[in-house]
Amino acid sequence: MFCKNCGNELSDRAVACPKCGEPTTEKKVINPYAPQPKDKTLAWLLWFFLAGFGAHRFYFGHTGMGILYIVLTLTSFLVIPAIVLLILWIIDATKINTWVMESYPKN
Ligand SMILES: [Zn+2]
Repeated sequence: MFCKNCGNELSDRAVACPKCGEPTTEKKVINPYAPQPKDKTLAWLLWFFLAGFGAHRFYFGHTGMGILYIVLTLTSFLVIPAIVLLILWIIDATKINTWVMESYPKN
């Protein structure tokens, strides 16, 4: 961030500008446990190239669905799992942008 008084570049944890003494009013609450915003491009790449491994589902923390994707891929020779997989894959395409938005902090 930058000092709003003099424009000096500041550390994100600075409470005041070392150059002019202006306090940084925008105090960031750093929560190490806060979920990290997801990268939209990466999510789409995972969805496109690694969907058979449920990679995009694991990326969004949907472990159960990720495992289901792997199971469906491993059983896709039975045809029906392959069809289910294809349907899920298409449905996920309509949801990825929403999941990315939801991964951003609410404030
Ligand atoms: Zn300053």
